[in-house]
Amino acid sequence: MADALVPIADNVWIFPTAGVAERVEPNVGVIQTAVGTVLVDAGNSPRHARRIARALEEAGAPPVSHIIYTHHHWDHVYGAQVFSATIVAHELCRELLAERAALPWSATFIEEESRRNPAYEQVYRNMNRAVGDWSGFRICLPTFAFGGQMTLYLDGATLDLEHVGGQHAADSIVVKLREAGIAFLGDCFYPPPMQPAPEPGYDRALLARLLDDTSLHTFIDGHGSRPRTRDEVAAFVASG
Ligand SMILES: [Zn+2]
Repeated sequence: MADALVPIADNVWIFPTAGVAERVEPNVGVIQTAVGTVLVDAGNSPRHARRIARALEEAGAPPVSHIIYTHHHWDHVYGAQVFSATIVAHELCRELLAERAALPWSATFIEEESRRNPAYEQVYRNMNRAVGDWSGFRICLPTFAFGGQMTLYLDGATLDLEHVGGQHAADSIVVKLREAGIAFLGDCFYPPPMQPAPEPGYDRALLARLLDDTSLHTFIDGHGSRPRTRDEVAAFVASG
């Protein structure tokens, strides 16, 4: 499969999810500005991120200047070391990643963790498959962390970053590109990972609150197969 950026709007693309659950490759947002390229999430591993970097190069995108983490989960963060960029995230995301960054990541460590937390065995297996080679691996901590909300005023893109929290991850934020009315949702309305049955389902109330911002008309979630229109999101909210 050739890796290619999928155009969403002027100067906006996604590096799309593989659509294969075990590969756990989320959609990565790509926003080109005069300052540089902004990534929304960093890929699930250095390997994944190198594929993203290659696609950016082929598209003639400027170097990655900023990475925004939508939340701390590994599949959104573990590729960051491939880029030398300013990383922005919620302060809780930074806290959670600081704990993880201190751990001795290696295939052996992953095996031990799987034994200690059998409920997470599948997560560790996917993580180990994605990263493959742990030598030189490191978790990149955000260089800017915020509570509540913040706005990045880049030349060509105004990005509103808003903390929404929720059941999937307490540090979830939504990234809104003002000029294009696009919202990158990360996984914010998904069920919590590794929740024993009965699964609580999607957080439709959170999505409904996001629809209150009438400037938004395109919604991109972390693992969705394509962007959704405002009407599609509204229909999804109403279907629950
Ligand atoms: Zn997640």
